[in-house]
Amino acid sequence: MPVSRLTGIPPTIFSTMSALAVRTGAINLGQGFPDTDGPEGLIAAAQQAMADGANQYAPGIGIPPLRAAIARHQQRHYGIELDPDREVCVTTGCTEAVAAALLGLVEPGDEVVVLEPYYDSYVAMLQVAGAVRRPVRLRAPDFRLDPEELRAAVTPRTRFVLLNTPHNPTGTVLTDDELTAVADVAVEHDLTVITDEVYEHLVFDGRRHTPISTLPGMAERTLTLSSVGKSYSVTGWKIGWATGPAHLVAAVLDAKQWLSFCSGTPFQHAVAHALDHLDGWPAELAASLQTRRDLLCAGLEGIGLDPRVPEGTYFTLTDVGHLGWRDGLEFCEALPERAGVVAIPAQGFHENSEAPAVRHLVRWAFCKEPDVIEDGLRRLGGAILEK
Ligand SMILES: *Cc1c(COP(=O)(O)O)cnc(C)c1O
Repeated sequence: MPVSRLTGIPPTIFSTMSALAVRTGAINLGQGFPDTDGPEGLIAAAQQAMADGANQYAPGIGIPPLRAAIARHQQRHYGIELDPDREVCVTTGCTEAVAAALLGLVEPGDEVVVLEPYYDSYVAMLQVAGAVRRPVRLRAPDFRLDPEELRAAVTPRTRFVLLNTPHNPTGTVLTDDELTAVADVAVEHDLTVITDEVYEHLVFDGRRHTPISTLPGMAERTLTLSSVGKSYSVTGWKIGWATGPAHLVAAVLDAKQWLSFCSGTPFQHAVAHALDHLDGWPAELAASLQTRRDLLCAGLEGIGLDPRVPEGTYFTLTDVGHLGWRDGLEFCEALPERAGVVAIPAQGFHENSEAPAVRHLVRWAFCKEPDVIEDGLRRLGGAILEK
């Protein structure tokens, strides 16, 4: 039996569904990992770092060249100025950055406004931190942020907003107007914003990602989290970072030192190399993902699944209610046998998974090779999807 802090948190849906894919030999359009690796130069840099002896503990805050490269990245892309010694902390993926931020900053009973659907680690870590979740729903069919709903979620006990843009699983990229609405509320109520921007480079159709920390009044109250995994197709490396004002970054480091203490040393050297020397690679990845998004969305539409065309990320959502399923989980559990394909029920990303608006949503990943997507679509097209 797990301790009460962890009870009621289901096992991460990604492990469950990926295990199902392996067990049944199904095509995995569920978990968001690419089936081709990141750039050769990045991988060679990690191998070189190991050969050069970068194999022992790194400083907890991260090796200096990586912190400097992260600061340069934020400057180059967004005009954000950071002191790499006080305003940057390297973490073991964005997952640890989220955990360390919540454990290091949130007092039991603090209310945290969070966009729903949410990435599942948020729920677990908010619960462990003793936080009170205040969800603000991004609603089908267009999954936009409603500023009125955001305002209504804030009470005198609210201290944080936990943001995610580009947003998993909806694929929404918050517009400057939506970000301004969040910033206005944060400034008015003196809230700290913790923002997960792991898909910062994976935006489509000429869009640009705007970090909320660049809005007026926000730099001093925003902790920005990101990671190399999605931008450079190395999701197994688990090198992430937290950037922002020194007092927020220090809280992350305080918690992080008791979690992993430090993050993989040779990978840190390689990521520093990539941020400085392979800066154009994520944009190429985004262009190729956009093509694969279009392939998957057109195919899903062709079989009557009417996907939402996402603005960023790896994912699209479809509603399967019209096919007669009680919920998305039931559909996803039947799918490997019926079609040899695995997808992810979006219920796992919601507080009230029985709510009619979310019950029937299913998430599909297009960060796969075109022939894998085509094979998945062929299988879906040949299967009976009605209950
Ligand atoms: C993948 C993902 C993460 C985890 O990032 P890692 O660097 O692999 O730990 C965090 N947040 C969101 C929204 C993600 O999709």
